[in-house]
Amino acid sequence: MTTKSEQLFEKSKTCIPGGVNSPVRAFKAVKRTPVFMDHAKGSHIFDVDGNEYIDYVCSWGPGILGHAYDTVIEAVKAACDKGLTFGAPTAKEYDIAMLIREMMPSMEMTRMVSSGTEAVMSAIRVARGYTGRNYIIKFRGCYHGHSDGLLVKAGSGALTQGQPDSLGVPADYTKNTLVAEYNNQASVKALFEQYGSEIAAIVVEPVAANMGVVLPEPGFLEFLRDITKRYGALLIFDEVITGFRLAPGGAQEYYGVTPDLTTLGKIVGGGMPVGAYGGRKEIMEMVAPLGGVYQAGTLSGNPIAMTAGYETLSVLKEHPSIYTEIADKTKQLADTAKTCFGDSVWVNQVGSLMSIFFTKERVVDMDSALTSDTEKYADYFSYMLDKGIYLAPSQFEAMFVSNAHTKEDVEKTCQCMKEFK
Ligand SMILES: *Cc1c(COP(=O)(O)O)cnc(C)c1O
Repeated sequence: MTTKSEQLFEKSKTCIPGGVNSPVRAFKAVKRTPVFMDHAKGSHIFDVDGNEYIDYVCSWGPGILGHAYDTVIEAVKAACDKGLTFGAPTAKEYDIAMLIREMMPSMEMTRMVSSGTEAVMSAIRVARGYTGRNYIIKFRGCYHGHSDGLLVKAGSGALTQGQPDSLGVPADYTKNTLVAEYNNQASVKALFEQYGSEIAAIVVEPVAANMGVVLPEPGFLEFLRDITKRYGALLIFDEVITGFRLAPGGAQEYYGVTPDLTTLGKIVGGGMPVGAYGGRKEIMEMVAPLGGVYQAGTLSGNPIAMTAGYETLSVLKEHPSIYTEIADKTKQLADTAKTCFGDSVWVNQVGSLMSIFFTKERVVDMDSALTSDTEKYADYFSYMLDKGIYLAPSQFEAMFVSNAHTKEDVEKTCQCMKEFK
């Protein structure tokens, strides 16, 4: 007997590429067919067949308060009654820009966009406009959205320019992207020695969370801050995941390293499609209509999206204890994984982000992440899904814990991990 999810997947495949609107949702990496969702509340999500899951995907990060948080939903409903979009400035845009600045003081000026992809693409344009330089450095394994210049893989030699990592991206679009290794200072130094005066910016996830969760080693972010300063390049923190998640002020607050520009997404929209970029006033004054860097958006600053983001950030700002609580729950999950699986896994955890890598190696970069046994992860994923625990359908994605996860949720999850072992 086929399930409703299976039927929907078959139908969707006829009119949507792969049946999904973002590739990871297709469950290919875990050799299952995707579960189609119907609704969610708090830490639980329900599929179209009526199955209930404890959700550790949390929409890939936005759901830090849990699903359908009451005050957010009420505010969004009220905003809808006033109209969905005006294409004109509203008071909410000022409110959220100021709230972001209060929580993350390096964001002296913010421009709202509609996705993380757009935020990073635009921040890089600003960095290039400000410095008058073309090259950027990104790290292998870090994801910054799907804009052409960032879909790169490292070239063959250590000091070569990036090569396209997707069909449809001309090599001309990636030749200004240099690729370094995460947590590897020498790889960054080598690029600066070769291209120093032509490098506009380093863009980095201050905690990498798109090759699984990989923490910056002590001194790594400080090193990036120093070397960019020394060469007159900008430091861009892509905090699309870490922003408002590791601390009210994101990874820059957590690690005490201040970038020149920051990109935001996921939590900043409270579940609506939102991204943002910002930073030092003198840099952001390069953006049109003030300056010569063009960037625009029909639905940028959309009133419904701004309301969802504003209400979510307000809750986080008013209840900073959320951060210690979610970190404690996540640590309990990490400790359980270490005890159950022992030497056969490596667990990275910081705040409410974690990954269980099925490898004996210490995971500090893309190469070590790639030593993971993805078949084993697929087995683990499948076992947990059938037990009512919804994990990321890939070894190389983070596990997200929300404020709505209860003690019972965490205990049940730990129990299932023990049984899987
Ligand atoms: C999700 C993500 C993006 C892209 O954001 P979209 O809203 O999916 O375009 C960019 N950077 C990081 C670090 C992300 O995790």
